[in-house]
Amino acid sequence: MPELVFFSGTMDCGKSTLALQIGHNRSARGLQGLIFTRDDRAGEGKLSSRLGLVTEAVEARPEMDLYAYVVAELSQGGKVDYVIVDEAQFLAAEQIDQLARVVDDLELDVFAFGITTDFRTKLFPGSQRLIELADRIETLQVEAMCWCGARATHNARTVGGRMVVEGEQVVVGDVNGPGAEVGYEVLCRRHHRRRMTSAAARAAALSPDVLPVAAAHDR
Ligand SMILES: [Zn+2]
Repeated sequence: MPELVFFSGTMDCGKSTLALQIGHNRSARGLQGLIFTRDDRAGEGKLSSRLGLVTEAVEARPEMDLYAYVVAELSQGGKVDYVIVDEAQFLAAEQIDQLARVVDDLELDVFAFGITTDFRTKLFPGSQRLIELADRIETLQVEAMCWCGARATHNARTVGGRMVVEGEQVVVGDVNGPGAEVGYEVLCRRHHRRRMTSAAARAAALSPDVLPVAAAHDR
């Protein structure tokens, strides 16, 4: 039975690498995949992994009907044996419904890869719909680590080096020029709640303010 599978995880957990690996394994068996992605770090129409691998992909634009795209591809004589979707968290809920239809009506496997929650610990719309519709949800085993060594389960956003918990759900790259550079870091829930990024932890460890408190305690 074909399946809609949601491979979920934090950033840096190797999602894109696994997506590329699935594509590679299946193409070795003569199967042809159609790859969708959205806002990949390598640019439009690319699927890339942090390990440096890149492949061509179809940019899943916001208004695009993914089911219709696959049907059109097949009706033009294209070979599509399965579908891979990277950065699936960025898709609209309706696009996830379209992917479910690809599984049910076209009988193709769809492997969707995405981050579950955003930097505010809220579900992305695409991920929410995947959790609602997927036949199977796989939590990726390549686990990202928080600076403290614990399993990183949450994504933090930093603006100008400071962790923020408010703002637009999707911000890619530099928004307000120098000093307000947007970055991301994976943390354990404990440190996400305390807004303790690796830089904040380093600063706290080095801060002379910490010492008198400890000394006062000893007396
Ligand atoms: Zn931690």
